[in-house]
Amino acid sequence: AKSAGRNRFCRYSKATAMYNPARMSLENDLRRAIESNELVLFFQPQVELASHELRGVEALVRWQHPERGLVSPVHFIPVAEESGLIVPLGNWVLRESLRQLREWNQQGLPPLRMSINISALQFRQGDLPRYLAEQLTAFAVDPQQVELELTESVLMNDVEGVLRTLQEIKSLGVSLAIDDFGTGYSSLSYLRRFPIDRLKIDQSFVRDIEQTPANESIARAIVALADSLSLGIVAEGIEKRSEKAILQHMRCAEGQGYLFAKPLPADDIVAWIGHHLQ
Ligand code: C2E
Ligand code: CA
Ligand code: CA
Ligand code: CA
Repeated sequence: AKSAGRNRFCRYSKATAMYNPARMSLENDLRRAIESNELVLFFQPQVELASHELRGVEALVRWQHPERGLVSPVHFIPVAEESGLIVPLGNWVLRESLRQLREWNQQGLPPLRMSINISALQFRQGDLPRYLAEQLTAFAVDPQQVELELTESVLMNDVEGVLRTLQEIKSLGVSLAIDDFGTGYSSLSYLRRFPIDRLKIDQSFVRDIEQTPANESIARAIVALADSLSLGIVAEGIEKRSEKAILQHMRCAEGQGYLFAKPLPADDIVAWIGHHLQ
Protein backbone atom coordinates (compact mmCIF):
# COMPACT_ATOMS: atom_id res chain seq x y z
CA ALA A 1 0.00 0.00 0.00
CA LYS A 2 2.91 2.26 0.77
CA SER A 3 4.46 2.09 -2.70
CA ALA A 4 1.03 2.37 -4.36
CA GLY A 5 0.53 5.56 -2.39
CA ARG A 6 3.84 6.87 -3.57
CA ASN A 7 3.02 6.08 -7.21
CA ARG A 8 -0.31 7.80 -7.00
CA PHE A 9 1.44 11.06 -6.28
CA CYS A 10 4.14 10.63 -8.92
CA ARG A 11 1.68 9.84 -11.68
CA TYR A 12 -0.21 13.06 -11.23
CA SER A 13 0.41 15.20 -14.28
CA LYS A 14 -0.84 18.67 -14.99
CA ALA A 15 -0.81 17.82 -18.69
CA THR A 16 -3.54 15.15 -18.39
CA ALA A 17 -6.78 17.06 -18.31
CA MET A 18 -8.82 13.87 -18.97
CA TYR A 19 -10.07 11.44 -16.35
CA ASN A 20 -7.07 10.29 -14.40
CA PRO A 21 -7.52 7.68 -11.66
CA ALA A 22 -4.27 8.68 -9.97
CA ARG A 23 -5.37 12.29 -9.88
CA MET A 24 -8.84 11.34 -8.57
CA SER A 25 -7.46 9.41 -5.64
CA LEU A 26 -5.11 12.24 -4.72
CA GLU A 27 -8.05 14.61 -4.84
CA ASN A 28 -10.15 12.31 -2.62
CA ASP A 29 -7.23 11.80 -0.24
CA LEU A 30 -6.83 15.56 0.03
CA ARG A 31 -10.54 16.12 0.65
CA ARG A 32 -10.38 13.57 3.47
CA ALA A 33 -7.13 15.09 4.76
CA ILE A 34 -8.73 18.53 5.17
CA GLU A 35 -11.66 17.01 7.09
CA SER A 36 -9.57 14.73 9.29
CA ASN A 37 -7.08 17.41 10.23
CA GLU A 38 -4.01 16.00 8.50
CA LEU A 39 -2.84 19.43 7.40
CA VAL A 40 -0.26 21.24 9.51
CA LEU A 41 1.23 24.70 9.36
CA PHE A 42 4.92 25.46 9.50
CA PHE A 43 6.13 29.02 10.02
CA GLN A 44 9.15 30.69 8.46
CA PRO A 45 10.69 33.75 10.14
CA GLN A 46 10.92 37.09 8.32
CA VAL A 47 13.68 39.16 9.88
CA GLU A 48 14.98 42.70 9.73
CA LEU A 49 18.25 42.33 7.82
CA ALA A 50 20.14 44.96 9.82
CA SER A 51 19.38 43.45 13.24
CA HIS A 52 18.18 39.89 12.52
CA GLU A 53 15.18 40.76 14.68
CA LEU A 54 12.04 38.77 14.01
CA ARG A 55 9.34 40.83 12.28
CA GLY A 56 6.90 38.18 11.21
CA VAL A 57 6.36 34.64 10.03
CA GLU A 58 4.94 33.18 6.83
CA ALA A 59 2.47 30.32 7.34
CA LEU A 60 3.29 27.43 4.98
CA VAL A 61 1.01 24.41 4.81
CA ARG A 62 2.17 20.76 4.82
CA TRP A 63 0.24 17.52 4.66
CA GLN A 64 1.00 15.03 7.40
CA HIS A 65 0.08 11.96 5.32
CA PRO A 66 -0.47 8.72 7.32
CA GLU A 67 1.69 6.70 4.90
CA ARG A 68 3.84 9.18 3.05
CA GLY A 69 4.89 11.41 5.94
CA LEU A 70 5.18 15.15 5.49
CA VAL A 71 4.11 16.14 1.95
CA SER A 72 5.25 19.45 0.43
CA PRO A 73 2.61 21.93 -0.75
CA VAL A 74 4.13 21.90 -4.24
CA HIS A 75 2.62 18.39 -4.59
CA PHE A 76 -0.92 19.20 -3.50
CA ILE A 77 -1.62 22.95 -3.84
CA PRO A 78 -1.93 22.65 -7.66
CA VAL A 79 -4.44 19.78 -7.24
CA ALA A 80 -6.30 21.80 -4.62
CA GLU A 81 -6.47 24.76 -7.02
CA GLU A 82 -7.72 22.70 -9.97
CA SER A 83 -10.36 20.86 -7.93
CA GLY A 84 -11.63 23.85 -5.96
CA LEU A 85 -10.44 22.25 -2.70
CA ILE A 86 -8.20 25.31 -2.27
CA VAL A 87 -11.20 27.17 -0.81
CA PRO A 88 -11.78 24.86 2.21
CA LEU A 89 -8.00 24.30 2.44
CA GLY A 90 -7.31 28.04 2.38
CA ASN A 91 -10.02 28.67 4.96
CA TRP A 92 -8.41 26.08 7.22
CA VAL A 93 -5.02 27.80 6.80
CA LEU A 94 -6.61 31.15 7.67
CA ARG A 95 -8.23 29.81 10.85
CA GLU A 96 -5.20 27.84 11.98
CA SER A 97 -2.77 30.71 11.42
CA LEU A 98 -5.01 33.13 13.37
CA ARG A 99 -5.42 30.56 16.15
CA GLN A 100 -1.64 30.20 16.35
CA LEU A 101 -1.14 33.97 16.32
CA ARG A 102 -3.54 34.36 19.23
CA GLU A 103 -1.74 31.59 21.13
CA TRP A 104 1.63 33.33 20.63
CA ASN A 105 0.14 36.66 21.68
CA GLN A 106 -1.25 35.02 24.82
CA GLN A 107 2.15 33.46 25.55
CA GLY A 108 3.60 36.96 25.58
CA LEU A 109 5.67 36.73 22.41
CA PRO A 110 6.51 40.08 20.81
CA PRO A 111 3.69 40.93 18.39
CA LEU A 112 4.47 39.23 15.09
CA ARG A 113 3.12 39.75 11.63
CA MET A 114 1.41 36.63 10.30
CA SER A 115 1.72 36.34 6.51
CA ILE A 116 -0.85 34.06 4.89
CA ASN A 117 -0.76 32.82 1.28
CA ILE A 118 -3.97 33.30 -0.68
CA SER A 119 -4.44 31.54 -4.01
CA ALA A 120 -6.14 33.20 -6.98
CA LEU A 121 -9.22 30.97 -6.83
CA GLN A 122 -9.63 31.49 -3.09
CA PHE A 123 -9.45 35.23 -3.70
CA ARG A 124 -12.10 35.17 -6.44
CA GLN A 125 -14.55 32.54 -5.18
CA GLY A 126 -14.40 32.32 -1.47
CA ASP A 127 -16.06 35.49 -0.22
CA LEU A 128 -12.70 36.14 1.37
CA PRO A 129 -13.29 39.54 3.05
CA ARG A 130 -16.35 38.30 4.94
CA TYR A 131 -14.71 35.06 6.02
CA LEU A 132 -11.59 36.93 7.12
CA ALA A 133 -13.68 39.44 9.11
CA GLU A 134 -15.52 36.58 10.87
CA GLN A 135 -12.32 34.77 11.79
CA LEU A 136 -10.55 37.93 12.97
CA THR A 137 -13.45 38.47 15.36
CA ALA A 138 -13.60 34.82 16.40
CA PHE A 139 -9.90 34.69 17.31
CA ALA A 140 -9.75 38.27 18.56
CA VAL A 141 -6.39 39.04 16.97
CA ASP A 142 -5.27 42.51 15.98
CA PRO A 143 -5.86 42.78 12.20
CA GLN A 144 -2.70 44.90 12.00
CA GLN A 145 -0.75 41.71 12.72
CA VAL A 146 -2.18 39.98 9.66
CA GLU A 147 -0.91 40.19 6.09
CA LEU A 148 -2.18 38.38 3.01
CA GLU A 149 0.32 37.32 0.32
CA LEU A 150 -1.16 37.57 -3.17
CA THR A 151 0.54 36.72 -6.44
CA GLU A 152 0.35 38.98 -9.46
CA SER A 153 -2.01 36.49 -11.12
CA VAL A 154 -4.65 37.43 -8.52
CA LEU A 155 -4.55 41.03 -9.68
CA MET A 156 -5.06 40.37 -13.37
CA ASN A 157 -8.52 40.61 -14.99
CA ASP A 158 -11.60 42.29 -13.55
CA VAL A 159 -9.76 45.30 -12.15
CA GLU A 160 -12.91 46.75 -10.56
CA GLY A 161 -13.82 43.51 -8.77
CA VAL A 162 -10.26 42.98 -7.55
CA LEU A 163 -10.04 46.57 -6.32
CA ARG A 164 -13.29 46.23 -4.39
CA THR A 165 -12.12 43.03 -2.69
CA LEU A 166 -8.73 44.54 -1.84
CA GLN A 167 -10.38 47.61 -0.36
CA GLU A 168 -12.71 45.44 1.74
CA ILE A 169 -9.72 43.52 3.10
CA LYS A 170 -7.79 46.74 3.77
CA SER A 171 -10.78 48.26 5.58
CA LEU A 172 -10.50 45.40 8.11
CA GLY A 173 -7.00 46.65 8.96
CA VAL A 174 -5.27 43.69 7.26
CA SER A 175 -2.27 44.45 5.02
CA LEU A 176 -1.43 43.13 1.56
CA ALA A 177 1.83 41.88 0.06
CA ILE A 178 2.69 40.89 -3.51
CA ASP A 179 4.35 37.46 -3.47
CA ASP A 180 6.99 36.35 -6.00
CA PHE A 181 7.19 39.96 -7.19
CA GLY A 182 8.60 40.36 -10.68
CA THR A 183 7.75 36.87 -11.93
CA GLY A 184 4.16 37.50 -13.07
CA TYR A 185 2.75 38.97 -16.23
CA SER A 186 0.77 41.90 -14.95
CA SER A 187 1.78 45.48 -15.58
CA LEU A 188 3.36 47.66 -12.92
CA SER A 189 0.45 50.08 -13.12
CA TYR A 190 -1.47 47.91 -10.63
CA LEU A 191 0.88 49.21 -7.93
CA ARG A 192 -0.66 52.63 -8.45
CA ARG A 193 -4.22 51.37 -8.53
CA PHE A 194 -4.27 48.78 -5.75
CA PRO A 195 -3.74 49.35 -2.00
CA ILE A 196 -0.57 47.23 -1.67
CA ASP A 197 1.65 47.45 1.44
CA ARG A 198 4.67 45.26 0.67
CA LEU A 199 6.62 43.58 -2.13
CA LYS A 200 8.33 40.20 -1.75
CA ILE A 201 11.36 39.87 -4.01
CA ASP A 202 11.13 36.42 -5.55
CA GLN A 203 13.84 33.94 -4.63
CA SER A 204 14.85 33.50 -8.27
CA PHE A 205 16.31 37.04 -8.11
CA VAL A 206 18.04 36.38 -4.79
CA ARG A 207 19.67 33.14 -5.90
CA ASP A 208 23.40 33.68 -6.54
CA ILE A 209 22.84 37.40 -6.55
CA GLU A 210 26.56 37.96 -5.93
CA GLN A 211 27.53 36.20 -9.17
CA THR A 212 24.62 37.25 -11.34
CA PRO A 213 24.64 40.94 -12.24
CA ALA A 214 21.15 40.73 -13.79
CA ASN A 215 19.71 39.43 -10.50
CA GLU A 216 21.43 42.19 -8.59
CA SER A 217 20.06 44.81 -10.99
CA ILE A 218 16.52 43.48 -10.72
CA ALA A 219 16.62 43.23 -6.93
CA ARG A 220 18.00 46.76 -6.72
CA ALA A 221 15.24 48.04 -9.01
CA ILE A 222 12.54 46.35 -6.89
CA VAL A 223 13.98 47.84 -3.69
CA ALA A 224 14.04 51.30 -5.31
CA LEU A 225 10.47 50.86 -6.55
CA ALA A 226 9.25 49.84 -3.10
CA ASP A 227 11.13 52.74 -1.59
CA SER A 228 9.71 55.39 -3.89
CA LEU A 229 6.16 54.05 -3.46
CA SER A 230 6.64 53.79 0.34
CA LEU A 231 6.04 50.05 0.34
CA GLY A 232 7.61 47.54 2.69
CA ILE A 233 9.95 44.93 1.26
CA VAL A 234 11.02 41.35 2.01
CA ALA A 235 13.61 39.37 0.03
CA GLU A 236 12.82 35.65 -0.14
CA GLY A 237 15.08 32.63 -0.33
CA ILE A 238 18.20 34.08 1.30
CA GLU A 239 20.53 31.11 1.83
CA LYS A 240 24.00 32.68 1.99
CA ARG A 241 25.63 35.40 4.01
CA SER A 242 26.87 36.95 0.77
CA GLU A 243 23.29 37.21 -0.54
CA LYS A 244 22.17 38.82 2.70
CA ALA A 245 25.10 41.27 2.65
CA ILE A 246 24.31 42.48 -0.87
CA LEU A 247 20.60 42.88 -0.14
CA GLN A 248 21.31 44.70 3.10
CA HIS A 249 23.73 46.97 1.27
CA MET A 250 21.01 47.95 -1.22
CA ARG A 251 18.83 48.79 1.81
CA CYS A 252 16.39 45.93 1.49
CA ALA A 253 14.74 46.08 4.93
CA GLU A 254 13.67 42.48 5.54
CA GLY A 255 14.58 38.97 4.49
CA GLN A 256 13.44 35.40 4.72
CA GLY A 257 15.34 32.21 3.94
CA TYR A 258 17.27 29.19 5.14
CA LEU A 259 20.13 31.45 6.31
CA PHE A 260 17.85 32.63 9.13
CA ALA A 261 15.52 29.65 9.52
CA LYS A 262 13.69 27.00 7.54
CA PRO A 263 9.92 26.82 7.92
CA LEU A 264 9.44 25.48 11.48
CA PRO A 265 6.66 23.92 13.57
CA ALA A 266 5.04 26.44 15.93
CA ASP A 267 6.92 25.25 19.03
CA ASP A 268 10.25 25.58 17.26
CA ILE A 269 9.44 29.21 16.43
CA VAL A 270 9.19 29.92 20.16
CA ALA A 271 12.53 28.15 20.72
CA TRP A 272 14.07 30.05 17.79
CA ILE A 273 12.98 33.38 19.29
CA GLY A 274 14.37 32.39 22.70
CA HIS A 275 17.67 31.44 21.10
CA HIS A 276 17.86 34.73 19.20
CA LEU A 277 17.17 36.89 22.22
CA GLN A 278 20.29 35.57 23.95
P1 C2E B 1 5.93 30.66 -1.58
O1 C2E B 1 4.71 31.34 -1.05
O2 C2E B 1 6.75 31.41 -2.56
O3 C2E B 1 6.75 30.22 -0.30
C1 C2E B 1 8.15 30.22 -0.24
C2 C2E B 1 8.71 28.84 -0.46
O4 C2E B 1 10.13 28.93 -0.48
C3 C2E B 1 8.37 27.85 0.65
O5 C2E B 1 8.25 26.56 0.06
C4 C2E B 1 9.62 27.93 1.52
O6 C2E B 1 9.82 26.77 2.31
C5 C2E B 1 10.69 28.05 0.47
N1 C2E B 1 11.91 28.68 0.99
C6 C2E B 1 12.02 29.55 2.00
N2 C2E B 1 13.30 29.94 2.18
C7 C2E B 1 14.04 29.28 1.25
C8 C2E B 1 15.43 29.25 0.93
O7 C2E B 1 16.26 29.91 1.55
N3 C2E B 1 15.80 28.46 -0.11
C9 C2E B 1 14.90 27.71 -0.83
N4 C2E B 1 15.36 26.97 -1.81
N5 C2E B 1 13.57 27.71 -0.55
C10 C2E B 1 13.15 28.49 0.49
P2 C2E B 1 7.08 25.58 0.47
O8 C2E B 1 6.79 25.68 1.93
O9 C2E B 1 7.41 24.25 -0.12
O10 C2E B 1 5.82 26.20 -0.28
C11 C2E B 1 5.79 26.20 -1.69
C12 C2E B 1 4.66 27.02 -2.22
O11 C2E B 1 3.40 26.42 -1.88
C13 C2E B 1 4.58 28.42 -1.64
O12 C2E B 1 5.50 29.25 -2.29
C14 C2E B 1 3.15 28.78 -1.94
O13 C2E B 1 3.00 29.19 -3.27
C15 C2E B 1 2.45 27.44 -1.76
N6 C2E B 1 1.83 27.40 -0.43
C16 C2E B 1 2.36 27.01 0.75
N7 C2E B 1 1.46 27.13 1.76
C17 C2E B 1 0.32 27.64 1.19
C18 C2E B 1 -0.98 27.99 1.70
O14 C2E B 1 -1.29 27.92 2.89
N8 C2E B 1 -1.90 28.47 0.77
C19 C2E B 1 -1.59 28.60 -0.54
N9 C2E B 1 -2.54 29.08 -1.38
N10 C2E B 1 -0.38 28.28 -1.05
C20 C2E B 1 0.56 27.80 -0.19
CA1 CA C 1 4.32 33.25 -0.05
CA1 CA D 1 7.15 33.64 -2.65
CA1 CA E 1 6.81 30.89 -5.12
